[in-house]
Amino acid sequence: MPYAHDLGELMMNLSQRMKKLNPYVPGEQPQDRKYLKLNTNENPCPPSPQVKKFLESFDAERLRLYPDPLAAKLRERIAERYELTKDQVFVSNGSDEALSFCFYALFDSRNGKLLFPEVTYSFYPVYCDYYGIEYEKIPLAGDLTISIDEFVARKESCGVVFANPNAPTGTYLPLKEIRYLLENYPPEKPVLIDEAYIDFGGESAVPLLRDHKNLLLVRTFSKSMSLAGVRLGFVLAAKELIDALATVKDSFNSYPVSSLTQRIGEIALSDQPYYRSINGKIAAVRETFSFELGKMGWTVLPSKANFVFARKEGVPGKEIYLKLKGRGILVRHFDAEKVQDFVRITIGTQEDMERLVHELKSIF
Ligand code: PMP
Repeated sequence: MPYAHDLGELMMNLSQRMKKLNPYVPGEQPQDRKYLKLNTNENPCPPSPQVKKFLESFDAERLRLYPDPLAAKLRERIAERYELTKDQVFVSNGSDEALSFCFYALFDSRNGKLLFPEVTYSFYPVYCDYYGIEYEKIPLAGDLTISIDEFVARKESCGVVFANPNAPTGTYLPLKEIRYLLENYPPEKPVLIDEAYIDFGGESAVPLLRDHKNLLLVRTFSKSMSLAGVRLGFVLAAKELIDALATVKDSFNSYPVSSLTQRIGEIALSDQPYYRSINGKIAAVRETFSFELGKMGWTVLPSKANFVFARKEGVPGKEIYLKLKGRGILVRHFDAEKVQDFVRITIGTQEDMERLVHELKSIF
């Protein structure tokens, strides 16, 4: 039985690269019981009925073939939707993969450190460690919003990345602030804006792409399009930057987006009225829920996303999370400086939020 001994040595021989990694921890997807899931910013509404119709009539024979490695039709549809050209669109397996390719292609520490807010999507430092990109965390303003002046003041950097609306705070920077950043930050350094939550009430920076070739926008079908399970994301940027992303993709996996996913993406995009309607409702539920929480003495950051970041004076965020979990409701808690008093609560249906308010009233 030499295995145990061999395994120990085998593990020691694994790469130093891997041993140094500090992976991202995704929100729980527990299988032990049925929870009301308000922890991973999934959309509570189903995808467009057109997607269901397509899946019901799908011929499995088509899965025999590889997908189009260029995802030409899907990119065409995305380009039409945003009044761009196909060569300004890159598609990926979820926006996490798009972000990963962007970090690899765009940021090089020989040009300085990468800048991102001290509180933002926690995958950014993970990619930095993975690719060996040095970074600097930029302080937030007192109200936990991103302060653009802090970025502009650091021109000796290799680029900027943040989410707008930001995660997990939900706070939003209006277009004029994004424009101010682009007009005052060096145009030869990439500015990557993660617009995962932009469809819940924010204004996208797409119109700024025309005048700012260093701007890249990362988007996802996971949130506003109710398609987290198919894993589809995309990037909008100047053709030259999209080509750079394709170089990275084709050096890694040239068929990343499955044919089924490509087709589902095309179909979902063609049903904008449906998505406008469900996302408008989610934004309205968010406002009512925030107001209710406020009445109950909670502090709620103003949000333009499909979640809110909230806290109750005197109660640690972890306790809120655990007590709700005990009652079958999952929210997300981040055990990190500045935010450990908060919980992030995904906006579900109106009934979901009424149930949550009811439970919160009885617990706190
Ligand atoms: N960006 C932000 C800010 C997110 O919160 C998420 C969701 N975890 C993503 C990107 C990635 O989403 P997906 O890979 O599902 O497109």
